[in-house]
Amino acid sequence: MEDMQNQPPHVVLFSSPGLGHLIPIIELGKRFLRHHNFKVTILAVTFQASNAEAEVLRSSLCDVIEIPPPDLPAGAGAALATRLCMTMRAAVPAIRAALSTMQLRPSAFIVDIFGTDSLPVAAELNIRKFVYVTSHAWFLSLLVYLSVLDEIIEGQYVDQNKPLTIPGSSPVRPEDVFDPMQDRNDMQYSECLTLGKAIPRSDGVLVNTWEELQCRDLEALRDQNLMGRVLKVPVYAVGPIMREPDSETGWDSGWVVQWLDKQPRDSVVYVLFGSGGTMSYEQMREIAFGLELSEQRFVWVVRAPTEGVTDAAYLTMGRGTSDDWDGVLPEGFVERTWEVGLVVPQWAPQVTVLRHSSVGAFLSHCGWGSTLESVMSGVPMIAWPLYAEQRMNATLLAEELGVAVRTKELPTKKVVRREEIASMVREVIQLRDGRISAVTKRVKEIKHSAEKALSPGGSSHTALAQVAKIIIGG
Ligand code: UDP
Repeated sequence: MEDMQNQPPHVVLFSSPGLGHLIPIIELGKRFLRHHNFKVTILAVTFQASNAEAEVLRSSLCDVIEIPPPDLPAGAGAALATRLCMTMRAAVPAIRAALSTMQLRPSAFIVDIFGTDSLPVAAELNIRKFVYVTSHAWFLSLLVYLSVLDEIIEGQYVDQNKPLTIPGSSPVRPEDVFDPMQDRNDMQYSECLTLGKAIPRSDGVLVNTWEELQCRDLEALRDQNLMGRVLKVPVYAVGPIMREPDSETGWDSGWVVQWLDKQPRDSVVYVLFGSGGTMSYEQMREIAFGLELSEQRFVWVVRAPTEGVTDAAYLTMGRGTSDDWDGVLPEGFVERTWEVGLVVPQWAPQVTVLRHSSVGAFLSHCGWGSTLESVMSGVPMIAWPLYAEQRMNATLLAEELGVAVRTKELPTKKVVRREEIASMVREVIQLRDGRISAVTKRVKEIKHSAEKALSPGGSSHTALAQVAKIIIGG
C-alpha cells in the first residue's frame, strides 16, 4: 500500500500539440515543482516534430509521458483548431489509462483549452480538474461568452457592423475575432463552441495574465452580474508564466548571441512569427526590402513561404532545412545586408535573443507566449498578427496597453508594403532626441508590474499559492 502521508501532492498537466501550449504548460509544472514541492507529470501529445519540441520536453524537469498522436480520419479537419480538437479527443482513452494507473494518485488534473474533452475522466476518477488558459483574460471572456453570442448574433461575426459586446470587457471588433470564429459554418467554429462550454465544467480556471494588467476583465469574469454568470468557476491569474533563458541551453544559440554581442545597445529589430507563422512569397520580399530600407540592424528568422495559410509551421515547429529560404529573399539581400543583418533559418532561441541588450524591438505575430517574453525583456513590439487569437492580442498591445505599434491594415487582409515596414521599424528602434519612445516606456512599466505580481506577496504568486492550497486540500 502506498503511504500517502509521506507523498507530495501530484499534479498532472495535459498539453495539446504545439509549443505555444507545451511551453506554458511545462513552465506552470515547474512552478508547482519549485515553489510547492509537488510531484509533477506532464502528459503531452507530441508529433515528435522537431528538435525544438524534443529540447523543450528534455528541459522540463518534470516527469513526461508522451502520447503519440492518434490517426485521424483521412482529410478530416483541415483547419488547425479542428485538428487539435480531434487529436485531443482521440487521446481521451490514453489519458484515462494514464490517470487511473499512476502509482501516486493525482491530486489535480490541469488541461489546456484543447484538452477539455478529458475533464470528465478526472471527474470519474474523483480528481480535481482545472483548465489553464495559456492566453489572456480578454480572450478567455470571448471564448466562454461564445455560447451566448452564438444565440444572439445572426450571420457571420466578421460581417457585423459593430463590435461584439462582452459583459465587463472591451468589445471585440468583428475583424479581430479569433480564427475559428471567422466562419461559423466551419467545423472549427463548432469545436470552439464546445470547448468554450466545457470550461465552466472545471473546478477553476488558471489564466496566464496578472491582476494589474487586466483587472477589468478579471473582475468581470468573477462578477455574477457579468461574465461570472456564464463562467461560474473561480479564475486565478497566475502569470506571466514563461521561459527563462536557462531553459534554452540545449540550442546552439552561440552564433546568434556572438553576432548580437557586436551590435550597439537597443539597436536590433528581431523578426519572428512564433512557432507556426508563415506568409506569402510577396509578403516576405516586402519584409526584406522594408528591413533594408529602414537601415536598422535586424535578426530575422526565416521560413519557407506559404500561400493562403498563416499557421503552416505550427505542428512542425522549426523542422526544415537551412536552405528552405533560398530563392525566397530578394537577390543579393543577404550580401547587401550582411554587416547589419542576420538571417536565421527556421528557429531561434527566442528568450535568449529577446533578453540580449542589443535587441530594441520585436516584429512579432503577437502569440501570447512571445508577447509575455517580449514584455518581460522590456522590448516593445511591432504587432503583426497572423492566426489564432493574435488579432485580439495586437489590438490589446497597441491600443490598450500601448506597448506596440501596428500596421494600418491587418497583414492577414493585405500585403504590408516595404515603406510602412521601414517606418514602423524606425519608429520603435530610434530614440528621438535621446528620449525613450512611448512604447518602450510603457513596456518597462508593465514589466515592472509583472515582476511585482510574481514576487512573494504579489497577486500571481498568491493566486498560485491558493490553487496549491486547494490541491493539497484534496
Ligand atoms: N519559439 C522559439 N523560437 C522560435 C519560435 C518560437 O523559442 O524560433 C518559442 C517562443 O519563445 C514561444 C513559443 O515558441 O515561447 C511560441 O509561443 P507563442 O504563444 O508566442 O506562439 P505560437 O507559436 O503558439 O503561435
